[in-house]
Amino acid sequence: MAGIYIHIPFCHSKCAYCDFYSMPLRNERDFISSLENEYYSRKSEITQPIRTIYLGGGTPSCLTQDSLVRIFNFLAVEDAEEITIEINPEDATDNFICWLKKHTPVNRVSMGVQSMNDRELTIIGRRHSATQAIEAATALLNNGFNLSLDLIYGLPEQTIDSWESSLEAILELNPHHLSCYLLSFEPGTRLTAMKQTGKVSEVSDVVAKEMYNLLCEKAQLYGYEHYEISNFAREGFHSRHNSSYWNMTPYLGLGPGAHSFDGAIRRYNPGNLKDYISCRGIGFTVTEPENLIEQYNDFIITSLRTKHGLDLNLCEELYGQEFRVFIEETAHKYLSEGIMWKNSNHVGIVANHWLTSDSIMLDFIKI
Ligand code: SF4
Repeated sequence: MAGIYIHIPFCHSKCAYCDFYSMPLRNERDFISSLENEYYSRKSEITQPIRTIYLGGGTPSCLTQDSLVRIFNFLAVEDAEEITIEINPEDATDNFICWLKKHTPVNRVSMGVQSMNDRELTIIGRRHSATQAIEAATALLNNGFNLSLDLIYGLPEQTIDSWESSLEAILELNPHHLSCYLLSFEPGTRLTAMKQTGKVSEVSDVVAKEMYNLLCEKAQLYGYEHYEISNFAREGFHSRHNSSYWNMTPYLGLGPGAHSFDGAIRRYNPGNLKDYISCRGIGFTVTEPENLIEQYNDFIITSLRTKHGLDLNLCEELYGQEFRVFIEETAHKYLSEGIMWKNSNHVGIVANHWLTSDSIMLDFIKI
């Protein structure tokens, strides 16, 4: 199986914490034509049936309905089991949701809620309120969409209590899937500038861990399976598309800022809409030269913090027996301390150590 990711590089405005490639909507028709050209010029890179399609960004719900219809007209959607679109609550009007259901093959919606506290939403520059998020989520569920909601913890002014309230409000909505990320202060964002000038501060490691533990506890209480550091799902509703990033499944990434992997080679599209349109989406992709060590390091980083862990047979097949032996030897002390687990063919980090697993993974990385 394989997937397609489409990066829509447009947003209504820039959230304070965001470093994704995005800008206000412009040159929409040229962008969609370039996307179509890119798809036809590169689709042979993926030879397996396309099972997942993911429209991310950016904010795909910024696009006009005509543009969304054009995208689903040129994509091969017939074999796809999971077709996801990212939307923001302010775009999820009843009209839009009904239209999406009736005129597109989308069956899964990923919505960025981020917080259920209006003060926290304002600080990070979101354009919607908590009430709008509840109304949008309810309407999406009532219309039969498989729904994933995103939250952020460690926000400025967020307390353990306000995080717990946000979490509970979201869990009470009973979405199929939940993605929760620890806020990160990325270089060049407004939030980082606010931190540098003392307007906001970062939560301590202790508070971050407390918030993470609360998240794991609540999600379990509400019946969600914790299957990757940031992801929780009701049974059968894990994200098939995102799982493909962690289990080395090929995916074709289209649009400026998108990344691709054909099973062996990683490629990326530079984040530059003007150049993308100038070349009409053709010949825009850059191959990321990766030696065996770099490929192995990617494998470590993507697989150790998942519920299924790292596949030792696959590791040996891809990189050689020496790498498998290195992993088994390195894991030894963590296994004896109960920080890692191992079964006949997999090894992984125990879930309550995922948040602080960077230092563990460093031991498995090869330089
Ligand atoms: S809507 Fe999403 S992609 Fe756009 S600026 Fe906000 S966080 Fe970034």
